[in-house]
Amino acid sequence: ASVLSDRINALQESQTIAMAKKGRELAAQGIDVISLSFGEPDFQTPQYVKDAAKAAIDEGYTFYTPVPGYLDLRQEISAKFKRDNNLDYQPDQIVVSTGAKQSLANVVLSVINPGDEVIVFAPYWVSYEEMVKLAEGVPVPLMGTIENDYKVTAQELEAAITPRTKLIMYSSPCNPTGAVFSREELAAIAEVVARHPQVLVMADEIYEYINFVGEHVSIAQFEEIKDRVITVNGFSKGYAMTGWRVGYLAASKEIASACDKLQSQITSGTCSIAQRAGLAALQGGRASADEMVTAYRRRRDLVLDLVQDIPGFRTPVPEGAFYIFPDVSGCFGKTTPEGKVLETSADVAFYLLSDAHVVAVSGDAFGAPNCIRFSTAAADEKLQEAFTRIKTSIEKLG
Ligand code: PLP
Repeated sequence: ASVLSDRINALQESQTIAMAKKGRELAAQGIDVISLSFGEPDFQTPQYVKDAAKAAIDEGYTFYTPVPGYLDLRQEISAKFKRDNNLDYQPDQIVVSTGAKQSLANVVLSVINPGDEVIVFAPYWVSYEEMVKLAEGVPVPLMGTIENDYKVTAQELEAAITPRTKLIMYSSPCNPTGAVFSREELAAIAEVVARHPQVLVMADEIYEYINFVGEHVSIAQFEEIKDRVITVNGFSKGYAMTGWRVGYLAASKEIASACDKLQSQITSGTCSIAQRAGLAALQGGRASADEMVTAYRRRRDLVLDLVQDIPGFRTPVPEGAFYIFPDVSGCFGKTTPEGKVLETSADVAFYLLSDAHVVAVSGDAFGAPNCIRFSTAAADEKLQEAFTRIKTSIEKLG
């Protein structure tokens, strides 16, 4: 018998991390590997944020922090919600955590009982499903159609809700598809949720600032369901602060207090220095993010142009985040020069790794087995080279 718990044995290793590992192995053999597997900005954290962190150390921010985060940081987050999202959240409705990832896990563990169903809009971010399983909930993936850029519609949601549905989870802008829900779409979804009072909504808005359409809508803006919405956001993507580990959530006081209690027993408040850096980041507004968005948009356009010409790839236009997520099922049934028949998106991803030396992640990890995900958060020349190589490899298929 294993010394490990059933809980941990049932948990999958993150596939994004597994593919990255394979890429590093090839690179160690001296092969020129282009890694497009990671969901990470390739920008440095803005200088003013780094400076604030250095100052925080010298100012003595070295002690335990309040579990839900420093009060002035939560006040600044409250102001951010008002400014960017027209949402009123008091500081005691906000919990700062060790990354948005912890915020998401806090919520799932705080509201899910064994057997509760969680509708996860698919394609979804890899960790949602595993978090639900950890909480002994039942993930119910709900996939939109490619014609609607994979966005789940209100009708599709209505049909998926059962008396056991407890929570709905989605990200917008979406990782992995880059889809952005419009105000009308979210209004219709909110109307469905309003009719089911036992249902909560977790809106993951970590890519809020990386949006090429312009309007970002928070579903918490729909008053009739606001108390049942948990809004999650953070600094990793918008401020290029992945390593600092600061994220946050806003919710009803009841849910926020539950997350505070859970966090108090597991991690305590997140890093003091990172919190001071987060405060400075928000005080600086979104100018640094806007600069990065210009680059992300240029790269999206560049890559879209290149994938258009790859036979067998069908790619919706991402409206935000920094990924493209082609449906590659058009390559299934084709044969590689080595004589292997490609049958799954994992086969395609693996073929591209071995033949084009480009690392991508198979869509299974995101609940979309016909797709593969490429990060576009890489230098323009790298993207150009990567997609040129991919095209050559795909054209070799027989
Ligand atoms: N949510 C989504 C959709 C993400 O893509 C990520 C990071 O990849 C996270 C949450 C986690 O962000 P953080 O670094 O703040 O934990």
